[in-house]
Amino acid sequence: MPPPIPEQLTKYEKIEALVKGFKLSTLTYKRIMHLLDAEMNNGLTKHTHHVADIKMFPTFVRSLPDGTETGSFLALDLGGTNFRVLLVKIDELDVDIQSKTYLIPQRIMLGTGQQLFDHIADCIGKFINEHDLKGQKLPLGFTFSFPCRQEGLAKARLSKWTKGFRCEGVVGEDICQLLHEALKRRTNTDVEIVAIVNDAVGTLMSAAHGDRACEIGLILGTGCNACYMETLDNVGLWDTDNKDKAHPNQVIINTEWGAFGDNGCLDFVRTEYDRELDTYSINPGKQIMEKMISGMYMGEIVRLTLERLTSEGLVFMGADRDSLLFERGKFYTKYVSEIESDHDEFFRNTKQVLEELGIDNFTTEDCKIIKYVCTLVSARSAFLAAAGLATLINRLKKPEMTIAVDGSLYRFHPRFHNLMSLKIKELVHNGLKFKLSLSHDGSGKGAALVAAVAMRLRSLKV
Ligand code: ADP
Ligand code: MG
Repeated sequence: MPPPIPEQLTKYEKIEALVKGFKLSTLTYKRIMHLLDAEMNNGLTKHTHHVADIKMFPTFVRSLPDGTETGSFLALDLGGTNFRVLLVKIDELDVDIQSKTYLIPQRIMLGTGQQLFDHIADCIGKFINEHDLKGQKLPLGFTFSFPCRQEGLAKARLSKWTKGFRCEGVVGEDICQLLHEALKRRTNTDVEIVAIVNDAVGTLMSAAHGDRACEIGLILGTGCNACYMETLDNVGLWDTDNKDKAHPNQVIINTEWGAFGDNGCLDFVRTEYDRELDTYSINPGKQIMEKMISGMYMGEIVRLTLERLTSEGLVFMGADRDSLLFERGKFYTKYVSEIESDHDEFFRNTKQVLEELGIDNFTTEDCKIIKYVCTLVSARSAFLAAAGLATLINRLKKPEMTIAVDGSLYRFHPRFHNLMSLKIKELVHNGLKFKLSLSHDGSGKGAALVAAVAMRLRSLKV
């Protein structure tokens, strides 16, 4: 049970007492960076890797696009919220994309692995028919955004499900193999799965196609994750026999930093709302950093805070208890963006959101309080992501670099970019310059680019 609020406080002191856990000092962010840096070392080091929360998986993606890649590719993007099939035509620096989004029903997200991959194969089959691609031998790049232990560019075993997925019989299995078998079962298409990457890697590849200074990829969507280009000498997990001449001495590391805090090291900054959200999630105790940052959870953190403020009689005094505000998962993260986009005393978006939630009895003061809560929760999220990026920037020590970012939270939240930039500036070592750049359709285009680079390198070998 959360501690009671002392009676003698004024209304605003009470509100402040209930939200102050979201306001962290610069010193606290620096402490978090220190812990994160140590955990990244644990992930990279052979004898500590198995106990590390942050897995720092080597990806087998070793070369960035050099601009000479060409051809047509299929790409799949399974990110957590949407599933897309894409046809990507790469002609030197010009990239043409046609794509279609398919729904993954919740019964499939929580069903069996076979149901999931059959569904994906059916969508690919439909896409190929609709785009008259039958009979063409197309290389396929798969953006599969869940933690995987990579054994090759097209071989990746799922280490655990995250976000809203929990399909039976997939953990430990080779995802490409499962897709390959489903394609054989459900379609008669001739596709070759050339590469499997996660969305952070796709985003980095996609941005690096036009910007050689790009070294880090970041996802702020359903989940939160980052990857970066690391020199092989720092990767204790890398099998030294795997050094070949076709590649530079480097590999993209998929940090899977969403799991930071799973060992309890972030407990000193978690609020009662973070703990409650975690308890009722499908993966309690897991993905602690992700749960404090990403789009799947932010709306719910705001909702839990507002629920507590309501129960203390500090907001929505006239609200109906049947309102959706009191139902888990019904306060969407897009509401946070909408509410924070209100810039005058009319609170047009906020009123619209409250109407959608079935609250019709509210005051202007209620609107101010709800916006204040959104502002605090989104700022903490942006600052934590910034602390993660600053940790990577300080490790890489490049004087100038670009960070490619993809995901709806970064794309649509009105202040995320600015909040992150300000905080990173405060946290990086003196003189290191960086640029945060939105990667257009990084998670889709990136998988095709990884496939394209693989095909280019393959053609060099023969
Ligand atoms: P994925 O991570 O599955 O590739 P997205 O990048 O589209 O997909 O991210 C989806 C997440 O973004 C969802 O959790 C959703 O709550 C959140 N989201 C969607 N629209 C907005 C918005 N306007 N503002 C903030 N977050 C949003
Ligand atoms: Mg995505």
